[in-house]
Amino acid sequence: MELRICHLYPDLLNLYGDRGNITTLVRRAQWRGIDVRVVEARLGDPIDPRENDLFFIGGGEDRQQRLAAPDLRQVKGAALREAAASDAAVLAVCGGYQLLGHYYRPADGPDLEGLGLLNLHTVHPGPGARRLIGNIVINEATSGTRLVGFENHGGRTHLGSQARPLGTVVVGFGNNGEDRTEGAVWRSVYGTYLHGPLLPKNPWLADLLIGVALRRRYGEMTLHPLPDAEEHRAAEAAATRARAGGPQAATSRRPGSRL
Ligand code: GLN
Repeated sequence: MELRICHLYPDLLNLYGDRGNITTLVRRAQWRGIDVRVVEARLGDPIDPRENDLFFIGGGEDRQQRLAAPDLRQVKGAALREAAASDAAVLAVCGGYQLLGHYYRPADGPDLEGLGLLNLHTVHPGPGARRLIGNIVINEATSGTRLVGFENHGGRTHLGSQARPLGTVVVGFGNNGEDRTEGAVWRSVYGTYLHGPLLPKNPWLADLLIGVALRRRYGEMTLHPLPDAEEHRAAEAAATRARAGGPQAATSRRPGSRL
């Protein structure tokens, strides 16, 4: 049995340790005796919708998003759409999450057209606008399971009607700092603002994605549990710290910052 991961733009979209998500997926599969293959897809590299079962795309500043957006649409878009529609797992964080929506309107410059895999759009209110920064805790929408992480974004994401949020904000800002939604889900496509990185702090989500990916290739199966006492203690500590600190709205320290 082999877990086949495709890491999109590893050199371009990788903020706040997003790469740690890949490490977590690899280790948690290997600890169960499952082989893992990670393929990296950079600018210009086509992807195969059937070769890989789990796609990851991290966060980045507007400058990097501007480079990735046309490539995501023109070079990889059709394949990623096909993979998602045939129940591959997709995880997208922050800048990558924004690019899976219909469009991202940066603080300056033209709109970046997204892939439209998730029914949402994102608007940055402009240079000098308050950034949404801090530790974040959410409850996942279907199971109520807690997710902890760190967010830092200027863009405000608004879900379209019928779009499903990943969760409800307990502490922090989430999609836009107003409606308490965080992230979005369609089929097995998960978009979120949670850096941290996300998966080491929330191993149950890593297992959910691994399970989706393996089932797509091998049919029904269950992952045996791992001894996660340390991980749970770490997540508990992160949640306690977040509750104590609350959201930290910050004004951009660099007016005109494109982050
Ligand atoms: N540039 C985007 C924003 O600030 C994404 C930032 C990120 O990926 N951390 O909204």
